[in-house]
Amino acid sequence: MQTPYDIVIIGSGPAGLSFACSMLDTDARVLLIERSDFESISKPQEDGREIALTHLSLKILKKLGVWDLIDQTQVAPLREAKVFDGDSPSLLNFKPDQKNIDALGYLVPNYLIRQALFDRIKDAANIDLRCDAKVSDVQQQPNHAQIVLENNETIEAKLVIAADSRFSEIRRKVGIPTLMKDFSKVMIVTKMTHEKPHNNIALECFDYGKTLALLPMVGNASSVVLTVKTNESQKMLDMSEEEFNSFVTDFFKDEFGHMTQAGVRHSYPLIGTHAQTFIAQRFALIGDASVGMHPVTAHGFNLGLRGQDILANLVKEALTHGQDIGSEPLLKLYEKKHINLTRLMFFGTNGVVALFTNDAPVVKQVRRMVLKIAEHFPPIKYLISHHLTEANKNKFLPF
Ligand SMILES: Cc1cc2nc3c(=O)[nH]c(=O)nc-3n(C[C@H](O)[C@H](O)[C@H](O)COP(=O)(O)OP(=O)(O)OC[C@H]3O[C@@H](n4cnc5c(N)ncnc54)[C@H](O)[C@@H]3O)c2cc1C
Repeated sequence: MQTPYDIVIIGSGPAGLSFACSMLDTDARVLLIERSDFESISKPQEDGREIALTHLSLKILKKLGVWDLIDQTQVAPLREAKVFDGDSPSLLNFKPDQKNIDALGYLVPNYLIRQALFDRIKDAANIDLRCDAKVSDVQQQPNHAQIVLENNETIEAKLVIAADSRFSEIRRKVGIPTLMKDFSKVMIVTKMTHEKPHNNIALECFDYGKTLALLPMVGNASSVVLTVKTNESQKMLDMSEEEFNSFVTDFFKDEFGHMTQAGVRHSYPLIGTHAQTFIAQRFALIGDASVGMHPVTAHGFNLGLRGQDILANLVKEALTHGQDIGSEPLLKLYEKKHINLTRLMFFGTNGVVALFTNDAPVVKQVRRMVLKIAEHFPPIKYLISHHLTEANKNKFLPF
């Protein structure tokens, strides 16, 4: 048996590391347990994900001292977003609704966020990181929890936080039912350079049979996000660079001139998850382990940051008052403050995906109508733009 910790975090992805950063200014003893090796956590590699951060996320990352560790020359502002539907002329256009705000959000490469989070905790006296260690079970008791590693070693903590991905094995072990939505689609992402500028405008094109998005990166470069049926994904991945370049250039009707692949093509199967509850005895889920979003609305990490911030604030308050950081009332309050928004986002996003990936003739009419109404009814656009840019409430991106 090892020295007991106050908090054990399972998983050193962006959510687990963010929570650890939130504990930097406390005297809580924190252990991060990660099944991958140290190299992959300490020097994260480019993974094709460009994370669109809302203003609230920016505020949290600044508070954690993480934002300044990100190379600012790699941060691209999202000044505008346009949503197109098939061959219809209907278009939905989003801009910041406040004069003093210059962008809807900010696009940052995922690996840079992970690097900055790791760099922030690497020398912390109260945070230990243990890599190459897989948690196989958590046994809860009234006053503590026991974390069981694959090698049967056990570690004790007052609070266990699972940040072990949308496919969380520990969530299942602890007995938390979870809704899983298999979209039966694959998302292919890569960086592309182009001849003409993107003017920092993001595009989401719900075409018939596939979806293509362009997220403006720094300079004349963009992250191209292609969503296709699972049985078409291998063909897209196997395309020669020349074929792929022509395919994307043609899709955007030469709007950006010739487009050239400038990174690796990465693929992600699309499966969404939402845990029925975010807590159990001395146990909380954060990040994708609590809600694994379809990436089309760019909510995933934004919600992950928000959730860990809510839980961290409650834990800090308990620490200040010498209270139990794994108590039932504390955990219930965390769930109460976070779960309703995640449900709304999860089911709302799935609804948008269901509508805009259904190509039945009648549904195509509905798709056009929905865009027209939203574009010409200012309150809807105001609400979305305002939510994106407001740093004190719950933000989300329109796609
Ligand atoms: C293509 C794409 C684009 C995206 N774009 C956006 C965007 O624009 N905006 C946004 O907000 N979000 C976006 N997301 C979502 C975002 O990337 C995720 O929400 C985020 O990475 C989830 O982080 P996490 O730490 O919760 O989980 P993960 O990153 O999955 O990390 C889980 C960690 O737990 C470890 N682990 C698992 N099981 C165990 C175990 N038993 N023991 C020990 N360790 C374990 C894993 O090794 C891993 O390191 C996107 C996602 C994709 C795929």
